[in-house]
Formats: sequence, structure tokens, C-alpha cells
Amino acid sequence: MDKVDIIIVGAGVVGLAITAKLAQQFNNVLVIDKNSSFGEETSSRNSEVIHAGIYYPKNSLKAKLCVQGKAMLYQYCQERQIPVNKIGKLLVAHGKNEEDFLKKTLISAKNNGVDDLIWLNQQALKELEPELLASAALLSPSTGIIDSHAYMQSLLAQAEQYNALFVAQTKMQSASPTDDGFEVSLDSQGEQLSIKCKYLINCAGLHSESVAHTIQGLNKSHIPKLHWCRGHYFSYQGKSPFKQLIYPIPRDNGLGIHASLDMGGQLKFGPDTQYIDQLNYDFPSKLKEKFLSQVSQYFPNIDASKLQPAYAGIRPKLQGKEDSFKDFVIQTSETHQLEGLINLFGIDSPGLTSSLAIANYVADKLKVN
Ligand SMILES: Cc1cc2nc3c(=O)[nH]c(=O)nc-3n(C[C@H](O)[C@H](O)[C@H](O)COP(=O)(O)OP(=O)(O)OC[C@H]3O[C@@H](n4cnc5c(N)ncnc54)[C@H](O)[C@@H]3O)c2cc1C
Repeated sequence: MDKVDIIIVGAGVVGLAITAKLAQQFNNVLVIDKNSSFGEETSSRNSEVIHAGIYYPKNSLKAKLCVQGKAMLYQYCQERQIPVNKIGKLLVAHGKNEEDFLKKTLISAKNNGVDDLIWLNQQALKELEPELLASAALLSPSTGIIDSHAYMQSLLAQAEQYNALFVAQTKMQSASPTDDGFEVSLDSQGEQLSIKCKYLINCAGLHSESVAHTIQGLNKSHIPKLHWCRGHYFSYQGKSPFKQLIYPIPRDNGLGIHASLDMGGQLKFGPDTQYIDQLNYDFPSKLKEKFLSQVSQYFPNIDASKLQPAYAGIRPKLQGKEDSFKDFVIQTSETHQLEGLINLFGIDSPGLTSSLAIANYVADKLKVN
């Protein structure tokens, strides 16, 4: 039987960032994914926005890791020539109630260390974004967009440079504790393997709950229930009417159907929120009306014929439909008493933005920073 220092389950953006970090400290780091390549699930089905960190409650992991991760990510992209653009975002309000929300957001952003938000009145908005309908907005200059595939490729290259190994089409089936770590059972393209490791890191995204249930000795009371929440995107054909990202006030357990641009200049609207019981990327046929009704509140001249169904992504949420805010959960032996095991649960947005800071956090828990 082979033995490695660390097995990382899941080569999404978070698993890759952790691998790239830990490979600098450990000799034998193995990252596996059940799919045929890296980042084929949530990490390639999102808005590709680098969030500023303005909404999350003070001192939450989401607030801290997003703000740290944003700074780290911009620097990483600059050093490695990864396509990125600090394009800015407008959080738009309609009427007094929503403007009150903007005022509260100014305070929560400041609490999180984001003190560069700029209040824009209707007149200023008309000059900046003539197609936008809003009574006021907050401009977040540090919000940006990134080519997330190029970012993941770079993380993998960095990990491999430090001799980490990525093995695709390899699924963790179970693990059991040993004297100094774990024995992990894998299915690699039909071949059954057993590998020992000192540290086991579960960053299996949508499957982190089911992976945790296969770890013997892990008390089930430490495994939270994950809710799957699908979000759909429509692309908008032709030239974008907006120069920056446009976000309505957050609603329905999400950030609202926003307008975002990718690095190629393609405008898309989304995601909405739909809690689902079965994992699939279906696109319900009635969605277009819902999108038109919500987007036209800030973009009244929207042309319905230019809206085309694009893709969907699924959030691994700890927050159920009726729940309030739920933070990232990064669980170590301090919680579950299984030495060497780290479980990451509920890494929904802003997981992409936070990825490098999450990696540092995990490394710190292994005391190898
Ligand atoms: C609609 C949507 C929009 C979003 N927008 C943004 C945004 O703009 N900005 C932002 O910061 N964040 C955003 N996010 C959040 C961000 O995409 C996620 O936080 C991030 O991608 C999570 O990465 P991950 O590596 O944890 O999970 P994943 O990318 O899901 O990776 C987990 C991997 O684990 C693998 N796996 C699972 N089980 C096993 C097993 N048993 N054995 C081996 N491998 C296994 C899977 O195949 C998968 O590749 C968005 C998310 C969604 C859904």
C-alpha cells in the first residue's frame, strides 16, 4: 500500500489552492477528483466575480477570508499574468427602503475593512451608466472579474511545480483512521486502491457532506446538512450596455440576478436561486419571464430576444431556504477529535474570491504556514 503525507479530496478551486499551498511544505501531496479534469463542478459554473466582501457579518469567516482572499487573488493574478479586471460594481437601489439598505451596507462594509465604497446619486449614475435605472447606488471599486479556468490551471501548475500529484477520475469511497492518519479507499477508473495519509482534507464541494459520512470514526453530529441551491444564467447577445457589474439588492438567499461581464466582454444575467433535491443542471423553461421581470427593474430597455439560456451552477449551502446567514465551516480535530482530518462544508460564494485565504487558513490549522 502506498503512503502520502496529504490526500486532498476535490480539485475545485479550493482544493487546488490548498494543494498549491501545502505542496510547498509537504513532500507527498495527492489531490484527487472523481471527474475527468479539475474544476468541472461549481468552480466552473459561477459568476467569476472577485467580491469586495461588503455584505457578510463582521468577523465571520466569509467576511475575513473574502477580504483577505481578494487582496491575495489580485496579487497572484498580477504575478502570474492571469486575466483579471478590477472592473467595479454598482449595488443599485430603487426608492427609500433600498437606499436605507445601501446605508446599512456602507456600515457593514466598513466593519469588514472595505472602506472604498462611493455613494452615487441618480444624476451621477445617469452619466456613468445611461442604460441603468436606479435612484442611487454604491460603487465598489475593488470588485473585479477573473478568468477562473486560467486561475485554476495556474494553481495546478504551481502545485505540480512543488511535486504535488493530481489524479483525475479517482473517487474517494471511504476512509478509516489509523495510528498516524487515515487509510483511504479509492476507486480509480474501476480499480480499487488503498492509500495511507497523515492528513485528509475533504473539500468535495457539493459532495462534502456525503464524503464526510464515509469517514469512519467521525461523529455524525459534526456533519452538517448541505442544501443544494441551483442558479441559472442567461447570456445577453451583442454589445454590453454596461461598463461595470450591476447588482440589485440581495434577495431570496442569493445576491440577486445581477449583470456581470466575463473577461471576453460577454454580458450575462444571473444567477437566481432554486433549492433542489437532485443534482442536475436542468434549465426550467419558464425562467426567461422571471429574469425579464427582475432585470427590467434596473435595465428597462432589455431586449428579450437577446436573452439566451447559458448555464447553471449549484451552490453547496448550509443555509436552508428559511434560514438566515450561514458561514463557511472549516472543521478540524478541535471540533471532531479526529487528528489529521479537515472538513470544509458550505463553501458557496465567496469561495472563489476566498480560495487563497482558505488555503492559508487550512495550512495554519496544520501549523505549516
Ligand atoms: C451560481 C454560483 C455563482 C457563484 N459566483 C461566485 C462569484 O462570483 N465569486 C465567488 O467568489 N464565488 C462564487 N461562487 C462560489 C464558488 O464558485 C465556490 O465557492 C467554489 O467554486 C467552491 O470550490 P470548491 O473547490 O469548494 O468546490 P467544487 O468546485 O465543487 O469542487 C469540488 C470537487 O470535489 C470533487 N469531488 C466530490 N466528491 C468527490 C469524491 N468522493 N472523490 C473525489 N472527488 C470528489 C468534485 O468532482 C469537484 O470537482 C458561486 C457559486 C455558484 C454556484
